Amino acid sequence: MSNNDFVLSVEDLTVSFDGFRAVDGLSFYVDTNELRVVIGPNGAGKTTVLDLICGKTKATEGSIKFKGQELTRMSEHEIVRAGVGRKFQTPSIYEDLTVFENLEVSLPRGRSVLGALAFRRDAEVVERIESVAEDIFLADLLDERAAVLSHGQKQWLEIGMLLIQSPELLMLDEPVAGMSLSEREKTAELLNRITPGRSVIVIEHDMKFVKHIAHKVTVLHQGKILSEGSLDKVQNDPRVIEVYLGH
Ligand code: ADP
Ligand code: MG
Repeated sequence: MSNNDFVLSVEDLTVSFDGFRAVDGLSFYVDTNELRVVIGPNGAGKTTVLDLICGKTKATEGSIKFKGQELTRMSEHEIVRAGVGRKFQTPSIYEDLTVFENLEVSLPRGRSVLGALAFRRDAEVVERIESVAEDIFLADLLDERAAVLSHGQKQWLEIGMLLIQSPELLMLDEPVAGMSLSEREKTAELLNRITPGRSVIVIEHDMKFVKHIAHKVTVLHQGKILSEGSLDKVQNDPRVIEVYLGH
């Protein structure tokens, strides 16, 4: 398989903040239908990698190719339109709007089949919103204000606000932080269900959760790859045990 066959090819990616290389010559490749987990100690550069892919931070050197397009030359807005969705650690939902309205305002316009229509609440739009609400366990709460949702439900709503845009690459930064055990289990089920047909990158610390979702794991340390492969392989890698799992 040539590197061009991957949905996402990150090569020699470097970002330097005042001389400090937070991401340092990083290369990795993500396939379609793949759920990749990125782990590593605090400050390893995990969040910065997502910032670089979604265009929030500009690379100093290197390349990020998504379906053949060079993301390092595109704006954040163009990257979203190219099919990349990114969830930040703190949910950015509209507390005063209902669950339905939060999903409605997130519908893409002018890109998909739906967006080609004038923006209105026709049957197709309602059906799409209900289907995403089903995916994120909020089908019974469509008319509730987002403010009344639990922390976990707010996280799911934000995932729904990304899913409704049908991203081909979905990136989530510590999605289960602060969730209850049952919410974590449901989030694992959700991520496994939505991965087919796209690529998903998840940054996570909870190794029990990682075990339920990871296809492959990339371990970052000081902006570089320390180890990569199956969870079993990286968990038994002495370098990983020393810098991360041993603590
Ligand atoms: P992780 O998510 O793995 O905990 P981060 O990617 O948040 O790590 O941070 C990696 C390193 O880069 C940290 O030392 C952090 O302080 C630094 N860093 C991240 N973003 C910036 C920035 N915009 N300016 C300066 N330093 C930054
Ligand atoms: Mg982080």
